[in-house]
Amino acid sequence: MLIAVLPGDGIGPEVTAEAVRVLEMVCGDRLTFKSAPVGGAAYKASGHPLPPATLDLAKRADAILFGAVGDPDCDSLERALRPEQAILGLRKELALFANLRPARLFPELADASALRPEVASAIDMVIVRELNGDVYFGEKGMRKTASGRREGYDIMSYNEDEVARIAHSGFRTAQARRGKLCSVDKANVLETSQLWRDVVIEISAEYPDVELSHMYVDNAAMQLVRNPGQFDVIVTGNLFGDILSDQASMCAGSIGMLPSASLDAGGKGLYEPIHGSAPDIAGQGKANPLATILSAAMMLRYSLGMAEEANRIEVAVATALAGGARSADLGGAMTTTQMGDAVLAAL
Ligand code: ATP
Ligand code: MG
Repeated sequence: MLIAVLPGDGIGPEVTAEAVRVLEMVCGDRLTFKSAPVGGAAYKASGHPLPPATLDLAKRADAILFGAVGDPDCDSLERALRPEQAILGLRKELALFANLRPARLFPELADASALRPEVASAIDMVIVRELNGDVYFGEKGMRKTASGRREGYDIMSYNEDEVARIAHSGFRTAQARRGKLCSVDKANVLETSQLWRDVVIEISAEYPDVELSHMYVDNAAMQLVRNPGQFDVIVTGNLFGDILSDQASMCAGSIGMLPSASLDAGGKGLYEPIHGSAPDIAGQGKANPLATILSAAMMLRYSLGMAEEANRIEVAVATALAGGARSADLGGAMTTTQMGDAVLAAL
């Protein structure tokens, strides 16, 4: 199987290199890796953050391992040439509409959570966020009111097909876990949310084995801090999911620990850590590679049908942490490579 490796900028190359080492050890010659530049690195090499050859490789590959994009040198470029456009372009071109973000606290890191240890240790959830619709993609603009005041607007919309496909992702994710799905919306005030709730309920007939509940987004934000252990899988729209998934990540400890997947309708996906390119620590060997290594495990589980190998990687990460592996963000002094070594040793 062909894996497209898109390291990108900043710490991206450092952390993807460790994930590739882990995949090579676990999967041997079942995987073939091909790299291509993306983001600021690609702009500097060829004048475009998502060059045609990189997009072509991503389309041909069975799955994509992505580092991070973002480069302070590119801050003054026009929007279309900025590194961040590369990831937006990949999501759009590959129709990656379902963003899966697991949040779980490794018991060894209980003191790194923003929550009390006894609350934090119960976190083991996945947020399934819709990625291609909602207020980010609606008509937007700036206009003048009748009295000449400036007014900005962004149209929020979802059609029933968009809701249905992300609902299926949510139900299937719940089926593969503890069988509980919580759909988060704001159906008491938003038409989009009313449609969302109606469609999710219709689809639920196809998943009698999943226990469905509904929650308003403001309550969900509160419950995530009050009692996060109640959640198994949350399915929600683009805007609410953006906010809730960042909130959940802080409940679970360091940003350097959290993986993500972005999937299309057929199960092909792009896998990346939730953190960015971290220019402040790039090139210093300080980055924690575990988020990217855990993203590689998700890739095996969700796109390559290698659930057992995925489990092995996750167990190895836990073993490395239990053995004291700590990068700077976890309060230790190990380098990126040493963290990778610790996972390889556990494997
Ligand atoms: P983006 O806009 O791409 O999300 P960002 O501006 O939100 O990027 P990050 O690049 O994620 O920011 O970095 C936020 C902070 O977290 C920085 O101080 C960075 O050094 C730190 N950080 C991010 N990733 C890691 C990591 N893997 N290991 C250690 N520290 C990290
Ligand atoms: Mg960020």
